[in-house]
Amino acid sequence: MKKVVLALVLAAVGFPIPAFAAGSPEEVRAAGDLSFDYILNKLTDEYSKGLLMPAPAAAPGERESGRDDRLWVAISASNSRERTRLLEAGVDIVEIRKDRVYGVIHRDALSQLSGRGIGVLSQEPLSLHLGSLKDFPAADAAYHNFKETTELLNALASRNSDVASVFSIGKSVEGRDIWCFRVNSSARGSDPSAKPGAVYIGNHHAREHLSNEVPLLFAVWLMDNRAVPEVKKYIDTLDIYIIPMLNPDGAEFDIKTGSYKWQRKNRRVNSDRSIGVDLNRNYDSWFGGQGASHYPSADTYCGPSAFSEPESTAVKKLVEARKNLRTMISYHSYASTVLYPYGGSEAEIPDARDRKVFVDMAGRMGALTGYHPEKSSDMYVATGDTCDWAYDIGGIFAFTIELEGNSFYPGAGIIDRAVKNNIKAAAYMLSVTDDPYKTLQ
Ligand SMILES: [Zn+2]
Repeated sequence: MKKVVLALVLAAVGFPIPAFAAGSPEEVRAAGDLSFDYILNKLTDEYSKGLLMPAPAAAPGERESGRDDRLWVAISASNSRERTRLLEAGVDIVEIRKDRVYGVIHRDALSQLSGRGIGVLSQEPLSLHLGSLKDFPAADAAYHNFKETTELLNALASRNSDVASVFSIGKSVEGRDIWCFRVNSSARGSDPSAKPGAVYIGNHHAREHLSNEVPLLFAVWLMDNRAVPEVKKYIDTLDIYIIPMLNPDGAEFDIKTGSYKWQRKNRRVNSDRSIGVDLNRNYDSWFGGQGASHYPSADTYCGPSAFSEPESTAVKKLVEARKNLRTMISYHSYASTVLYPYGGSEAEIPDARDRKVFVDMAGRMGALTGYHPEKSSDMYVATGDTCDWAYDIGGIFAFTIELEGNSFYPGAGIIDRAVKNNIKAAAYMLSVTDDPYKTLQ
């Protein structure tokens, strides 16, 4: 949810990207409707149709009662310190402009802002703001919901059972499995492997549906192109984990009525009966500090303790059990940025060599996606973040990629480009996962 002016990076890149073609006609037929091109075209086509439907009704339900007390606000803020303070006051920053931010705040928290000397420029019920959106699809048929994601991953694994498998890394608050698609030519399911490992995670935040599609379609692309020598080398030598939908409860809640709910958090029922913990504030990395809210209704609520939530705990268990992991991408939307640690502190990473690897890798992935590479805290400080934790616990080169778009529900026009460019960055990460330090050479 970090929105900045898109800085296009047009630097040439030397990394060889395998073609996106699905192969010979025979191979296309053999792959049937599981091919990357087929699924991507279908996604784009169906989403276009969704755009022709009428705008949805206002979003209901943040509380169990079904009443939505959230407001869409514009607030003065012109630097990262001021923005961090807003996050702590319970403002969910959605868009950043030079002198102000736009975002979401609970009505109860709004009244406390003036006491903190924070100037609110405008406010309206979130439901009114949603009603004014022109690019809001009424149905979500195009995107892969939980059931479709589950079925696609299982079908992919069964067709490529010599190198791929699916396993659950844990269950969500409401009991849904958090699926992991694993690519490893010699280990299955949750079995250990000594090969260097890469992890891709999507959909920490429910409404960021494109962040499910990118890792999901990356899994399809990997299997589609598994015979391409460069890809085959990765499949033979690496241990690859793709978890496209970390927050299945939230993602399902966001779409279940056919009109989006702007759900960000998981579906935990908090002690005050409000709903949800912000999973990207719940990791044990400066937990509960700057940029996190302790107010349960806030969209940036960090939860009662680090790893209080089963979804973040599932990532914790996966990562802690695998010392072979070297690289990670956590996908969000929609600031068009490649962010590297720290996000939870303005401090730099102490190890200068690691810092250089982060900067180099972020720069390369920025060039491949057209996104702006920067240190995560440059926009605002946010504690309890996945990537800070992954680097601290395992020395993993972990990046947050904020995908592109003009909203959480970005319309059809960007899907094809966003998925393809991000697959280039995801494939680039595989190319250095055996030894990220080789980027220094
Ligand atoms: Zn996010």
